[in-house]
Amino acid sequence: MKKALVVVDYTVDFVADNGALTCGKPGQLIEDAIVSLTNEFITNKDVVVFPVDLHDQDDPYHPESKLFPSHNIRGTEGRELYGKLKDVYEQNKQSIIWMDKTRYSSFAGTSLLQILRERQVEEVHIVGVCTDICVLHTAVDAYNLGFSIVIHENAVASFNEQGHDWALGHFVNTLGAIVVKK
Ligand code: ZN
Repeated sequence: MKKALVVVDYTVDFVADNGALTCGKPGQLIEDAIVSLTNEFITNKDVVVFPVDLHDQDDPYHPESKLFPSHNIRGTEGRELYGKLKDVYEQNKQSIIWMDKTRYSSFAGTSLLQILRERQVEEVHIVGVCTDICVLHTAVDAYNLGFSIVIHENAVASFNEQGHDWALGHFVNTLGAIVVKK
C-alpha cells in the first residue's frame, strides 16, 4: 500500500519554549521521532508532506483571531520549522512537499487531496501538533475521504494533556486508525 507521512505544524510557535501557541515540553519531546519518521519515509521514497499553518497579523476575517493568540504569522521566525526538522527540510527539499494551510485540517483549502490521489496514496500517517486540534481535524478529513490512518503516538503532542489523551482514543475508536505505540 502506498503511504504518505503528513507532518503537521511542527514550527517554532507551536513547539519552542517562547512559541506564541506552544505545546512546550511535550512538543519538544517528539522532535527525534518526527525527524526519524521523516528520514525513513524519504529513504523509502514514500510521500512526505509538511502542511504548515499560515496567518496574517490581525486578520479580521480569520475565525482563529478570536480564539487563539496570533501565531505562525507570515514571514516570522515563529513560522519556521522547529529544531532539527528545519535542517531535514533544508537538505531534502526535493523530497518534501511544503504546503501552506490556513485552517486546522491539512486538507482545508490546500492541494493535499490531489497530491495524495495523484500518487495513489491509500495510507496516511499523521504526526506533529496539536494532537487534538490540527492533527485531529486532518485525521477526520482523511477518514471522510477514505484513507487508512496511522497515528504515531510518540510523534504527536498537545498543550492540552486531556485533549491529547482523548484524541488518541478517538483516532482508534471512531476513525478506525492504527495508533502506533513505540
Ligand atoms: Zn492557526
